[in-house]
Amino acid sequence: MATAESQAKAAPDGDQDMTADFDLTPYGITVKDVRRNLAPATLYAEAIREDDQCDISDTGALIAYSGDKTGRSPKDKRIVEHPDSKADVWWGPVNIPIDQETFQINLERAKDYFNTRKRLYVVDAFAGWDPRNRAKVRVICTRPYHALFMHNLLIRPTRQELQDFGTPHGVIYNAGEFPANQRTHGMTSKTSIDLCLETREMVILGTEYAGEMKKGVFTMMNYYGPKRGILSMHCSATADKQSGRSSIMFGLSGTGKTTLSADPNRLLIGDDEHCWTDQGIFNIEGGCYAKAIHLAPETEPEIFQALRFGAVLENVVFDQETHHVDFHSSRITENTRGAYPIEFIRNAQIPCVAGHPSDVIFLTCDAFGVLPPISRLSPTQAMYHFISGYTAKIAGTEVGITEPQATFSPCFGGPFLVWHPAKYAELLAARLREHNARVWLVNTGWSGGSYGTGTRMKLSLTRAIINAIHSDELASVKTQADPVFGIDVPIACPGVPAEILAPRSTWSDPAAYDAAARRLAGLFRENFKKYEADVSPEVRASGPRIA
Ligand code: ATP
Ligand code: MN
Repeated sequence: MATAESQAKAAPDGDQDMTADFDLTPYGITVKDVRRNLAPATLYAEAIREDDQCDISDTGALIAYSGDKTGRSPKDKRIVEHPDSKADVWWGPVNIPIDQETFQINLERAKDYFNTRKRLYVVDAFAGWDPRNRAKVRVICTRPYHALFMHNLLIRPTRQELQDFGTPHGVIYNAGEFPANQRTHGMTSKTSIDLCLETREMVILGTEYAGEMKKGVFTMMNYYGPKRGILSMHCSATADKQSGRSSIMFGLSGTGKTTLSADPNRLLIGDDEHCWTDQGIFNIEGGCYAKAIHLAPETEPEIFQALRFGAVLENVVFDQETHHVDFHSSRITENTRGAYPIEFIRNAQIPCVAGHPSDVIFLTCDAFGVLPPISRLSPTQAMYHFISGYTAKIAGTEVGITEPQATFSPCFGGPFLVWHPAKYAELLAARLREHNARVWLVNTGWSGGSYGTGTRMKLSLTRAIINAIHSDELASVKTQADPVFGIDVPIACPGVPAEILAPRSTWSDPAAYDAAARRLAGLFRENFKKYEADVSPEVRASGPRIA
């Protein structure tokens, strides 16, 4: 990053650096027209002018398309194998190594592509609301929509902070419009997302899905956080309006982190990425990235109203005449998304920091309909479930496919981990012990049967469960041990019919439930085998009792 030092000196000051002619020559980028930290309205104008497909929705959001890739490409992610970090990284399917030379080739390719463009966009902003743990991030990209996305998702600098920005800690080179060269060593497709932990550089080729950038920042945090004893977490966070007491919700994609954290009765700290330090928690991001499929003002008013001027709506279908968005259409993808600055949610707490959480919630979307909607975990069960990271998705929307697919993703964020899962688990265990936090498992998935027979838990019921956790009402309720998983299931919960709390009694065929539960227990045990050597005998014994 020595190059960026001289770059910072070359940066013009005052109003000028908010517009054109930012100097990127120290990076070997010779484009003259470089626009830094443009205001959203200006980015809209650029997007409409430069981008054939961009449009404005009838609520004022910027509609944009990411091309072929409408989700992350985990198989195309690479981490530079470097002598300084080699021993730290959990190498395998999540962290696939590339050599430094190949990284430089891809970086060069991105820059060569940049140099063919007549105009580039730069976003300089922060990651991490804790001033002691704040990273300066620079994004260099070709599409105004990507610039607006990162303007929304990173923490926006004030005018003064932008003037004083200096050398960034990390740089994202987003040349996603241009493919990787498949003949480059180690490339297996036209997509390549490469991270160098040492230089904190990220190169994106062959995918325009904006979510890659934010998860690149998260991956960096997942390396540097634990290195300094800070636990980085794939979770949302909220706080009580009166007491300020906080709570976090871990969960894999689609389990409800964003939906359930947009709660008008609580303060929103963040919807996806947080860190837990010796002083409490802080959000890494400055915005939210919500799933938009089937979004409706009746069920999710907070998120719905946030998709207005300044927000990016990615891969949605809209009426050509009225520009009214059809949130039910999955014609382009099931993974439609809206990205907005966190202050678009009315109860956002700025700055996005809070004290130590009193409740830690693991969200799972169990499409088998086996796990109870709410259960309490002992400290060792908490470790077992954190390392397992279970959720189950429906296999697909094609007719005839009714069998859900179990996913186990350690720490509820496998794709973004850099260290071995045990590193994060140990940090979590220590924090839970130290702060005496309660741990809950909440199933936001199926009830009354598996996918095909049962139905997804009503959002209003899950919200009632979350409220009961936060109001301390659940902590004093009598519980019953689940016969298969051994977890403590409350026998009552305010706002929730008692008969849905024990899943077996919601199935019309109890024998079918027993078979499904046994099968799922078997999948848990099979998955956990690979971690048995890394945990204590107590944690090992905290899984399902029957398999
Ligand atoms: P990602 O990590 O991909 O951002 P996420 O955990 O933030 O995922 P959400 O965006 O909150 O997931 O998605 C949950 C989806 O499930 C939403 O579309 C929501 O409307 C829907 N949903 C349906 N029923 C429930 C429920 N009982 N609890 C939570 N979400 C539900
Ligand atoms: Mn989310």
